[in-house]
Amino acid sequence: MKNIGKNAGASFHPAAALDYLPTDHLQALQLKRLQAVVERAYERVRLIRVRMDAKGLHPEDIKSLEDIRQLPFTVKADLRDTYPFGMFASPMQEVVRLHSSSGTTGKPIVVAYTQEDLDVWSSVMVRSFVACGVGSHDIIQNAYGYGLFTGGLGAHYGAEALGATVIPISGGNTDRQIMVMKDFAVTVICCTPSYFVHMIERARELGEDIRRFPLRVGVFGAEPWSQAMRRHIQEESGIRAQDIYGLSEIIGPGVGIECEWQNGLHIFEDHFYPEIIDSTTGEPCPDGTEGELVLTTLSKKAIPMIRYRTRDITAIIPEACPCGRTIRRINRICRRSDDMFIIRGVNVFPSQVEAALLAVEGTVPHYLIVLTRQRGLDQMEIQVELTPAVFSDTVGALENLQARIVKAVENILGISVNVRLVEPHTIERSMGKAKRVIDQRNAD
Ligand SMILES: [Zn+2]
Repeated sequence: MKNIGKNAGASFHPAAALDYLPTDHLQALQLKRLQAVVERAYERVRLIRVRMDAKGLHPEDIKSLEDIRQLPFTVKADLRDTYPFGMFASPMQEVVRLHSSSGTTGKPIVVAYTQEDLDVWSSVMVRSFVACGVGSHDIIQNAYGYGLFTGGLGAHYGAEALGATVIPISGGNTDRQIMVMKDFAVTVICCTPSYFVHMIERARELGEDIRRFPLRVGVFGAEPWSQAMRRHIQEESGIRAQDIYGLSEIIGPGVGIECEWQNGLHIFEDHFYPEIIDSTTGEPCPDGTEGELVLTTLSKKAIPMIRYRTRDITAIIPEACPCGRTIRRINRICRRSDDMFIIRGVNVFPSQVEAALLAVEGTVPHYLIVLTRQRGLDQMEIQVELTPAVFSDTVGALENLQARIVKAVENILGISVNVRLVEPHTIERSMGKAKRVIDQRNAD
């Protein structure tokens, strides 16, 4: 562990006490809440009632935490099929906020919050900030998008509830982000990791070095990112890069967070009950085994989510964390089953490509994977952006770099790939979630 002494704001916060409950107390609380939420969903959400009835299952059959396995799963399509309000368990009179997340196809999904739900959300965000060593003395620049996306307001109200100073700058306008970061002596940044990489670069072009700013912590989420990306960010900016996990269907950001040990995401399991399943069979996976994360909201009023299949691939970490928190951890999420693509029979995740790239010196984490089909054969081209310094190297040096990248990627994926080195700034920067893959295989 390093740098913890620098976390001046990391004094104890009463909201964080729930992170340290004795396990038997936690489980008793979980069971009580599970029984209540199942009863609420059964009584108020038609889809849940129909599915439970079909299994001959009644709320009173939930007698232990293991009984959760009898309950039916919920999937994203359920929210689309019941669009906009079909999964609500609260009358609109009690709903005080709606958020919506856009899918790539079809209708968006709509999620709702009662005031009690918003209070829970703020409390888990407070616990998240505390776990990252952020406290009331901090100045937080919140560059998550404000609006229908849950990232902006979720982080905002959590930061206010913590007593920190929030700058609601939202996403975009990178030059202004850097000016504010410097002039307002910002100590904490919240945004996607890919956007922060862009900020580091842009600062350099403006003649600034973020390492000289008071900034010390980044709370990064809303897209999968690799351990290699963390190292890159920490080295290039001199801050601690902390991973936050969440999804709108469950509450938004604040479902889980890394503590100062950076060794997995603690799940706030007094509110969100985690299970890992084999995504093919739906059967539970033992602790330590990778599978799909399934979450049940234990306290949500407006939309109780029963066994929601997140599509995120991870594992429950059985060992206790040295930080002393008793809430369990999952591996940080580098892969979503949605992100996976299959090329020549091999499953590939963008994060694998990212890790390979970042292991090669002279590249920056801006890349784009382009999939095409030529004479019936899948081709994968990785466009890799060069740093300005490397770009001015000799042709021989560039060819050598290209060969090293090809080798690094092929070693990890076990298939041949084409690598194209592109000039600095040719790959489009995202102010939010980065787009990593363009699949043109079925374009014609
Ligand atoms: Zn911990």
